[in-house]
Amino acid sequence: MIQLHDKFFKPFISEKEIQQAVKRVADTIAADYRDTTPIFVGVLNGSFMFVSDFLKAYEYPCEVSFVKLSSYQGLTSTGIVETLLDLPENIEGRDVIILEDIIDTGRTLQELVHLFSNTNVKEFKIASLFYKSEVYNGEYAIDYFGLEIPDRFIVGYGLDYKELGRNFREVYQLNQKHMINLVLFGKPGAGKGTQAQFLKEQYNLKHISTGDVFRFNIKNGTELGNLAKSYIDKGDLVPDAVTIKMLEDEVGKNPDADGFIFDGFPRTAAQAEALDNFLESKDMKINATIALEANDEVLIARLLERGKVSGRSDDQDVDKIRNRFEEYSLKTAPLKNYYEDQNKFHSVNGIGSIEEITERLTKVIASL
Ligand code: 5GP
Repeated sequence: MIQLHDKFFKPFISEKEIQQAVKRVADTIAADYRDTTPIFVGVLNGSFMFVSDFLKAYEYPCEVSFVKLSSYQGLTSTGIVETLLDLPENIEGRDVIILEDIIDTGRTLQELVHLFSNTNVKEFKIASLFYKSEVYNGEYAIDYFGLEIPDRFIVGYGLDYKELGRNFREVYQLNQKHMINLVLFGKPGAGKGTQAQFLKEQYNLKHISTGDVFRFNIKNGTELGNLAKSYIDKGDLVPDAVTIKMLEDEVGKNPDADGFIFDGFPRTAAQAEALDNFLESKDMKINATIALEANDEVLIARLLERGKVSGRSDDQDVDKIRNRFEEYSLKTAPLKNYYEDQNKFHSVNGIGSIEEITERLTKVIASL
């Protein structure tokens, strides 16, 4: 395990595997271009090591040049791609092969294709050492790649985390062990929102409230939002797969978070299992499920008080409140079993001052 700034990384791809992949790419390209003199164009900074080893493995006439673009800041793609070092001259009529270290969403590649689109090159090809095929959503088909990798954040062999790690001979992946992923349960009035706010700030977590995410996506007419709406409009429940996809997007959008608080999902054991499967595919897991517990009479008093201030009608009617409690108990019971079987269920006394409850939550997290 190595540490770069605030993050930990664990070994992922060995030096030997990398060298074999480089050689494979070089041999494949040689088979296509050995009789011409192609220009290899490395994309800086990340590709410098790949370009160097690639050229040593490519034993035919060729030229080399570099372009420089920038799109990543820390762990997230900012989406802004700038040209910092321009195209080589005299590429008209030549075979140009781009050498990229990694292709992720394909945004950088799109910019490159655009850059070269008004040059009169004879052939334009893309070779990338690493290729995250699951997240790639560009139109251009990648011509050559060394290794297909899952959607993990990697460093080493030219790739950095905030400029560190480029000099490693092997590739490491972000270690998610230090993440804190929580599922938060609680009856209405139990103080979930207040405590989630605290946990979020204290541990740098991202709070994902499924209800909020749905409303946001529907309001903004995203593809997933429209899909979800098509079910809701028919009076059907949104299928778990759609909700999971939405969660996936939220998790993907926040790679800098040190963990997530899932709120409002899962609601059934089947959903809990789907969530586990999705997290596992990201090398993540739920660390704890916390239920904020309080006696019904205390909660009713709290909600009635809240109803007076907020004007929420469902907080002003004792019968409606009791119905919501009943629904909660019915739904969470099987989930409680599911997480108890995994030794992840923690019940926290939700009666007391905000600080007292916060203190209890902190103890649970410290024990993980
Ligand atoms: P794209 O534009 O395809 O989303 O991203 C391409 C650029 O993002 C790469 O050239 C690289 O600079 C950066 N990048 C994408 N994935 C990773 C990764 O896993 N680790 C590091 N260090 N950089 C990455």
